[in-house]
Amino acid sequence: MHQVPEPSQAPVSQALFDRASRVTPGGVNSPVRAFRAVGGTPRFMVSGQGPYLTDADGKEYVDLVCSWGPMILGHAQPEVIAAVQEAVARGTSFGTPGEGEVALAEEIVARVAPVEQVRLVSSGTEATMSAIRLARGFTGRAKVIKFAGCYHGHVDALLAAAGSGLATFALPDTPGVTGAQAGDTIVLPYNDIEAVRAAFAAHPGEIACVITEASPGNMGVVPPLPGFNQGLKDVCSANGALYISDEVMTGFRTSKAGWFGVDGVAPDLMTFGKVMGGGFPAAAFGGREDVMAHLAPAGPVYQAGTLSGNPVATAAGLAQLRLLDDAAYAKVDAVSAEIQGLVTGALAKEGVAHRLQTASNMFSVFFTENEVRNFEDAKGQDSFRFTAFFHSLLADGVYLPPSAFESWFVSTAHDERAVQRIADALPAAARAAAEATA
Ligand code: PLP
Repeated sequence: MHQVPEPSQAPVSQALFDRASRVTPGGVNSPVRAFRAVGGTPRFMVSGQGPYLTDADGKEYVDLVCSWGPMILGHAQPEVIAAVQEAVARGTSFGTPGEGEVALAEEIVARVAPVEQVRLVSSGTEATMSAIRLARGFTGRAKVIKFAGCYHGHVDALLAAAGSGLATFALPDTPGVTGAQAGDTIVLPYNDIEAVRAAFAAHPGEIACVITEASPGNMGVVPPLPGFNQGLKDVCSANGALYISDEVMTGFRTSKAGWFGVDGVAPDLMTFGKVMGGGFPAAAFGGREDVMAHLAPAGPVYQAGTLSGNPVATAAGLAQLRLLDDAAYAKVDAVSAEIQGLVTGALAKEGVAHRLQTASNMFSVFFTENEVRNFEDAKGQDSFRFTAFFHSLLADGVYLPPSAFESWFVSTAHDERAVQRIADALPAAARAAAEATA
């Protein structure tokens, strides 16, 4: 019987991880980085260039994580770096308004039609937390509908049946979130519009908003069924609730206007992060002007941030967005499709039951033959096959998300050489997946 490949050795990373574990819980500053779902030593990266990352042991990897989405132009993109250097030389934070944040807000408003006004924040978590508060303040209602497997950052009220790291660890919930904080959250199965209608019928006049990932990537890639997002919007409109589309992951990645650019369903509020920060902590929420007008100091709903609209972060984000023209998206889409084909080809050749799901250039592989429409379906896959697949690729210099419940990401920098390295590594990884046992 074939053994799952031994996690490859990385002595310098291991020494750093040991050091880190003494001073940081679990040795990492964000749980999924710790490799707990797949085992082995998390790689401590020291540099990135284009589609490659180099770890502390000097090993180079083709990066299919792209910092969990932001690095859509690849690492150390020269024009982004130049914009950062230029900004940083002028000072790193002023605590006052600045032109960079106006320009970034204008770029977002110009790209995404439903966004009439936007407020900049520093993380996707802050964006969704603030959007929920605003929806509650605007409607005067308390309840929020979210979907199992959708992750909206570590907002207390939204850490119920969330995806991402929580999917990885199979935690239904987390200690530290009180009943009161989660008590107004209604968790429903994704892609089930009837469940949403039933929840509205059961709670008339109580639901402030529905928040959904525009196209979920935090339980693996599980796109909305045709008409699902439109159905959400319609049921919200009919019931005086707001439809919040979380585009932290899909925004400015799945098209120039994110997932809105793909399905055209106009939300009341939207949240952004990742790509719009160019690798820096910048995020945003925005939408209808009459709703945004309720935000302080224009209105009564409080929201603030010492580093919101930080000049270095906005310079990076703006430089990145300005490079993301139609040609750039065509390139990311094409290289994504090429890699998708290689992955399914290699797995099919070894007879591995799998399902590759896509949302424009985002994709992931589920080790099951069934269509995955929601979190329950996603959890039904043979995750042990992913573990074997992951470690084989890692050993051969291809860096996948260290969890079967995450989207894979590519960039404009993934060129033929990078793709060839993936192609070369895939046959052994597919074999390892085929031979893995639970
Ligand atoms: N919303 C979605 C859809 C995300 O994917 C994430 C992060 O992965 C967040 C919100 C939280 O963003 P951040 O990690 O910047 O707080």
